[in-house]
Amino acid sequence: MRNNNKGLFKNSLFYIVCFLIVLGVTFFVTSKNGQPQTQDLQSSQFVQELKDNKIKSFSIQPEDGVYTVTGEYRKAQSVKSDSNSSILFTGAKSETKVSSFKTKVLKNNSTINEITEYAKKNGVKMGAKGADTDGGFWSNLIFSLLPMLIIIVFFFIMMNQMGGKNGSKGGIMGVGKSKAKPTKSDVRFSDVAGEEEEKQELVEVVEFLKDPKKFTKLGAKIPHGVLLEGPPGTGKTLLAKAVSGEAGVPFYSISGSDFVEMFVGVGASRVRDLFEQAKKDSPAIIFIDEIDAVGRKRGNGMGGGHDEREQTLNQLLVEMDGFSGNDGVIVIAATNRADVLDPALTRPGRFDRKVLVSYPDVKGREAILKVHAKNKPIADNVDLHAIAQQTPGFVGADLANLLNEAALLAARRNKSEIGPAELDEAEDRVIAGPAKKDKAVSKRERNIVANHEAGHAIVGLVLNDARVVHKVTIVPRGRAGGYAIMLPKEDQYFLSKKNAMEQLAGLMGGRTAEEIVFDSLDSGASNDFEQATNLARSMVTQYGMSEKLGTVQLVNPSDDPYARRYSEKTAAIIDEEIKRIIDEAHGQAHDIIAQHREQHKAIADALLEYETLDEKQILSLYRTGKMPEEEETNEDSSFEESKEKLEQKENQHQENNDED
Ligand code: ADP
Ligand code: MG
Ligand code: ZN
Repeated sequence: MRNNNKGLFKNSLFYIVCFLIVLGVTFFVTSKNGQPQTQDLQSSQFVQELKDNKIKSFSIQPEDGVYTVTGEYRKAQSVKSDSNSSILFTGAKSETKVSSFKTKVLKNNSTINEITEYAKKNGVKMGAKGADTDGGFWSNLIFSLLPMLIIIVFFFIMMNQMGGKNGSKGGIMGVGKSKAKPTKSDVRFSDVAGEEEEKQELVEVVEFLKDPKKFTKLGAKIPHGVLLEGPPGTGKTLLAKAVSGEAGVPFYSISGSDFVEMFVGVGASRVRDLFEQAKKDSPAIIFIDEIDAVGRKRGNGMGGGHDEREQTLNQLLVEMDGFSGNDGVIVIAATNRADVLDPALTRPGRFDRKVLVSYPDVKGREAILKVHAKNKPIADNVDLHAIAQQTPGFVGADLANLLNEAALLAARRNKSEIGPAELDEAEDRVIAGPAKKDKAVSKRERNIVANHEAGHAIVGLVLNDARVVHKVTIVPRGRAGGYAIMLPKEDQYFLSKKNAMEQLAGLMGGRTAEEIVFDSLDSGASNDFEQATNLARSMVTQYGMSEKLGTVQLVNPSDDPYARRYSEKTAAIIDEEIKRIIDEAHGQAHDIIAQHREQHKAIADALLEYETLDEKQILSLYRTGKMPEEEETNEDSSFEESKEKLEQKENQHQENNDED
């Protein structure tokens, strides 16, 4: 998608070269006409030669005021070259043979009579031609118009190139046409490995595209847009294609950078055209890759040089608002920077569904390796699970690349199978690749992250009054090296002081675990502190949870943060109270982790091995120190399997709610 510019350049170069060649040939042909293979004769000379019987045949053609006589000699005559051609051979008197001649005679009867007479006498063939019979007029016309013609044709081709790759509508009017042409995707859900949750989130979209009426009949509102967010190479494009493949609908793909490519105003009309086309073709998917290229926050450019981009973005917003679910078009966009997107894009009715596509964990990596190993002969002693364990931080594209490198190596070594040696070397190559420096997260760092997250988990498990530990992972997301997700057991409307303190202890659990397990401290926990400080501040200033300050609301959330309603003295007390509360939480976390060192270690070790742990696994580790019996979950599930799992989940949720 990105090399469109290059393609255009290459094409223009090609046409320019063609143009020059044609020009050259034209020039050559025209100039050859003037070459003196035909001798120009004086009329008297002609009459003399006719008398001498040197001429075999000639013809006479009337031309304004004179007769042009062209003819052939009986024998080729040798002629001294005149200056015309001897410039090249300075001084040398070159001789050329000529077999034909050309001359002009005056249009009077005596000359004609004379010529006829001699011709008859010597038996020379004599003919007459009408004016301009040998195509002189046409050839002249063509030769004079040819350059013009070529330029015009060339111009049209150029415009076609720039305008429409859609082929159907070209010409100059094609400039503003969208470049997207629909493709039929044959990617299936089972080709996307290790992204079970992501796939489940897209099940509904596939179902809708398969049969839009089923949904619209019930008045269901279908998401207009799905935003796939994740680091490069994690399979966002692949997922979008899989949705199209499963639903069997056309896939209109365009990159955000295509919109802002050429002329002012083109981007917006391309958007319009793209949506128009897709609607005609519905149900269909429009996939906008790199949406951040057009979708950046508006109005933050200095000097307003972003008009074109903003116009395009506005048009995109208009189009997305403009269609109702009935149109059967779903826009899927991909980005690795959702934070820079204009907030207007994520408002309801636009990209109202966000799917985070994250780095794969061990299981995911193994599944991806398996998918890409399918069509390659892999030796029996290769352990894909081991490779998955050695490659934390690798995304799907890296793993595909790894297997490809290994296959290349095996081929170069004339092997019939890819063995462990090739895979080993390929792994090094992919890690050593120029942009991949941070790919292999260092062992030490992983160990720290695992202990940190296990710390959050263990505090959360012990203080399990209001919240459950839903998921713990050391797979990085955004700037976080790992994270623990705690979910409230039930919908909470009020935050009790006890709950607040438990949350604070949980937040402190990460860093505290690091303190206990390692001596050194890293900067990785700053986000935890930020959250903890904010919570503690709210407790003191808004919720009245500090005895010292009492139940006074010192800050209203809608207040201007700089307009303080309290004195310097109170401010000092607030700071003191915040510190006291956080210290208390820290002490609590410390006690909990110190008392549960074994469980903490079990969870940290499991994190290092499995990278992601779910609720069930965490509980099992906490209670028994062991992982639960592995139930076979295949990580490259098909659409039906994903759907089934999603339904199971939904049913479970239903049951839980019924119990309450
Ligand atoms: P993104 O769009 O997120 O940058 P792509 O979808 O272009 O990533 O992925 C590039 C390639 O990496 C894919 O064509 C595929 O070969 C491989 N790949 C990425 N993720 C996966 C995955 N989850 N399963 C299988 N292959 C994957
Ligand atoms: Mg992509
Ligand atoms: Zn943390």
